[in-house]
Amino acid sequence: MERFLAGKTALVTGASRGIGKAIAVQLARRGARVACVATSAERCAETVAACIAAGAEASAHGVDVADGKAVSALVDSVTSAAGGLHVLVNNAGITRDQLLLRMSAEDFERVVAVNLGGAFHFIKAAARPLMKSSGRIVNISSVVGLMGNAGQANYAASKAGLFGLSLSVAKELAGRGVTVNCIAPGYISTDMTAALDAAAAQKLAESIPLRRIGQAEEIALAVDYLVGPGGAYVTGQTLVVDGGLSI
Ligand code: NAP
Repeated sequence: MERFLAGKTALVTGASRGIGKAIAVQLARRGARVACVATSAERCAETVAACIAAGAEASAHGVDVADGKAVSALVDSVTSAAGGLHVLVNNAGITRDQLLLRMSAEDFERVVAVNLGGAFHFIKAAARPLMKSSGRIVNISSVVGLMGNAGQANYAASKAGLFGLSLSVAKELAGRGVTVNCIAPGYISTDMTAALDAAAAQKLAESIPLRRIGQAEEIALAVDYLVGPGGAYVTGQTLVVDGGLSI
């Protein structure tokens, strides 16, 4: 596999499991030094081990992505330890599903603070080093941000917000050679979607044109494209990876 990220540093949020773990390992396969971020460093231990097994350096970090000051300190420390930053993947996310009439303001605000605010804090903290390296930013949104979903007004709002954030930052940073794109996954098999029983999962799979639920590695390969040579001239776009769910 071409190690096009050799000598470069990537920071991946939500890297302890699921999609973020698959992304971290894929970037490690490309040779990147990977800074893995989750709510605690301990939770990233398995991902770090997998990145090292892929032949890369990796480190584990804990932060609440909604805490702007802590994020800024973390990005500064990762960047100065590595001597720069080349790739930022904003993947950390949560759900607190409830129909609108029953949704508390707290659950609305927390989901937006983590899913959208977290990406804002990381982009702001990483913008200068990424401008120096003509780096790449990838934000993991969702097809729910494009389509809406009953019971997910907070989540859909946060994921739709990532499109506006990405488009605006893409325009602001293009002059410095930084690309900013979104990926909108459909239904991917991870802890976030584990609540479905087998019958419901089967029904859902049948409603997807490609007739199956996606795998975290398939999102990691979309990130691989956007941060690799093929993505060099792509900015301000959303790559929908959903088996046709949204068509
Ligand atoms: P997951 O298995 O639930 O993992 C979520 C990750 O985010 C974990 O690493 C978690 O860390 C981290 N995280 C959550 N809140 C955080 C916070 N406040 N500060 C720091 N880290 C935090 O989720 P997933 O299914 O892999 O999803 C990853 C991303 O893809 C999310 O943004 C999600 O919205 C998006 N997505 C997923 C699907 C799907 O079908 N799975 C579809 C579309 C979009 P801890 O382990 O420390 O809790």
